[in-house]
Amino acid sequence: MKWISHIALTGTIAYAATQDPLPAAAACVGAILPDKIEGTPGSVGWRTWRSRHRGWSHWPLLYLALLGALTHSAGYFFYDAAFFSVLTWLLIGALLHIAEDAVCGKVPLLTPSEKYGIRLFTVGSFREYLFVLACIAAVYVIRSLL
Ligand SMILES: [Zn+2]
Repeated sequence: MKWISHIALTGTIAYAATQDPLPAAAACVGAILPDKIEGTPGSVGWRTWRSRHRGWSHWPLLYLALLGALTHSAGYFFYDAAFFSVLTWLLIGALLHIAEDAVCGKVPLLTPSEKYGIRLFTVGSFREYLFVLACIAAVYVIRSLL
């Protein structure tokens, strides 16, 4: 999925869940985090990028572990609700990125090297934007029913 699609869909989901622009903005940053960690063919070289592509940077257990560590650390360190909300939604945004990548290719699941997914559309195609639009509409419908 293109970054604009990741940001639009993830931001919509986060805002629908929280009704707060701060966690929604944090989720939008998280929505591009796995690809940012991975680098681009221009910045790391095509062979390095290809070998890293959707590897450990797209491994959901890594982000779930960080989310768990963050939740458990809340009582031990200083606690600021807004700060923890931003970090939590940053990680949730990254998890949503991985889920969104899983419908246009394969992403890791239990290990960084075993990949699963389906290809509903080609990245950057008209079908991608149609898919994202349908998902955003579904989020609005679900949110309006709650
Ligand atoms: Zn990605």
